[in-house]
Amino acid sequence: MTDVSLGFLADRLPSDRLSLDPTDRAEYDADWGRSGGDPDVVVWPESTDEVAAVLAACDERGVPVTPYAAGSGIEGAALATTGGVTLDTTRMDGVGPVRPDDLQMDVAPGAVGGDVEAAAADRGLVCPPFPQSAAFSTIGGMVATGASGTQTVKYGEVGDWVLGLEAVLADGTVIETGSRARKSSSGYDLTALLVGSEGTLAVVTRVTLALAPEPRARRAGRATFETLDDATAAVARVVREGVDVATLELVDPLTARMASAHADADVPPDPSVYVEIHDGTEAGADAEATRCESVLSAAGGAVSFADDPAEMERIWAARRQAVDAIKTWDPDRTPLTVGDVTVPIGSFPEMVRSVRSIGAEYGFDVPAFGHAGDGNVHYAVLVDPDDPDEVARGKEASDRIVERALALEGTSTGEHGVGLGKQSYMSDEHGAAVGAMRAVKDALDPNGTLNPETALPPAQ
Ligand SMILES: Cc1cc2nc3c(=O)[nH]c(=O)nc-3n(C[C@H](O)[C@H](O)[C@H](O)COP(=O)(O)OP(=O)(O)OC[C@H]3O[C@@H](n4cnc5c(N)ncnc54)[C@H](O)[C@@H]3O)c2cc1C
Repeated sequence: MTDVSLGFLADRLPSDRLSLDPTDRAEYDADWGRSGGDPDVVVWPESTDEVAAVLAACDERGVPVTPYAAGSGIEGAALATTGGVTLDTTRMDGVGPVRPDDLQMDVAPGAVGGDVEAAAADRGLVCPPFPQSAAFSTIGGMVATGASGTQTVKYGEVGDWVLGLEAVLADGTVIETGSRARKSSSGYDLTALLVGSEGTLAVVTRVTLALAPEPRARRAGRATFETLDDATAAVARVVREGVDVATLELVDPLTARMASAHADADVPPDPSVYVEIHDGTEAGADAEATRCESVLSAAGGAVSFADDPAEMERIWAARRQAVDAIKTWDPDRTPLTVGDVTVPIGSFPEMVRSVRSIGAEYGFDVPAFGHAGDGNVHYAVLVDPDDPDEVARGKEASDRIVERALALEGTSTGEHGVGLGKQSYMSDEHGAAVGAMRAVKDALDPNGTLNPETALPPAQ
């Protein structure tokens, strides 16, 4: 805990925007994946000017400020572990205006993805790269973590759909990045720099998002395989052969069991690959579905494209809950980590094999699922938190999985971000580039007040 009194903030914000109350502060001690936040003060700004006033005042006094949005992050990036101010962005939740002629819209950082999707859908538009958590996670959180989702294999990541940002720097300076044009080569790409920066470089106060027309035709299908190896090889083949899939997801048998139990739904238990195709015409969608089917069949899959879209949606809805299912699976065990390593697609089968075999070596049955078309593997190591030996084994198994991903020239995190959980891998993953990242941090936040404990490993 730092010694922060309300005085200097109370002068700058209306009284309903801040609290020292322990009950309020306790709301911010954890995100979805980790705990350890201990803010002295919570603020709920309602405008860019209020964010700027808080940051400037804290910067002058060296008080840490940690942005916190929906708290659905997995790696603890929103936790004020050194005390100071937690800046909750969720009252800044305006959606729009939508500019349908330009295929874009402005969104305040605390708006949840579901509200953005609904506003776009009213105009026949979509923003396709959102994460599975879009119903409750915010745009600011998605931008800050570099999020992506099930449709990234076709449409890219959230960051690819950000045309520009309004953001407040540590000293309270308000900047605008990017432009409303679809492309620009003017100046350094500060939008890209802020995407994935986890609230360590600036607080995002407005996002200009690109939109696309709703795809006119969709097909959804599923292929089951005798073995997990067959399923992962099929994924790599679909990508390599250039089948135009909008979604290409893997569900292994353990994940299917977990999702079925959690959602009280029947997710079929075989190693499965879920596919969605989007196209501008019904004939085009049929042609691509046929091509997809033949590639999956040639790889050994039993393929069915949905005769009953409602049934497919039921299965999907259960799959969407796989992350939450991990938490409720075993009442005596908690996830030490829900990892999201990502590797080049050719190494995807090897990565899934490694997740399973490393888990088994340490005595854990580790589920493997994820946005397979991107080479992304989610996994979870579940441990009894009261058993130090099991926790230590789990930690070692998790480290080995990440090390394997890096050896395969992949990344420790494809979408969840670094937070507190992945910091220890940053030097191995990025080498001397970590020094360059620190130089950027020092230049934009010389007093080190913005979310100081997350993302970058401690300076040597
Ligand atoms: C069930 C479930 C499914 C999920 N599925 C996916 C998935 O498919 N893909 C994926 O990528 N992630 C997924 N996640 C992880 C999580 O939802 C994402 O990381 C999401 O982007 C976090 O958004 P949030 O609003 O909860 O942010 P928080 O967790 O509150 O914050 C995350 C980070 O963003 C920073 N931040 C928040 N707002 C701002 C702002 N305005 N300016 C600057 N920094 C800010 C915080 O300081 C922190 O560093 C899932 C999580 C759950 C629980």
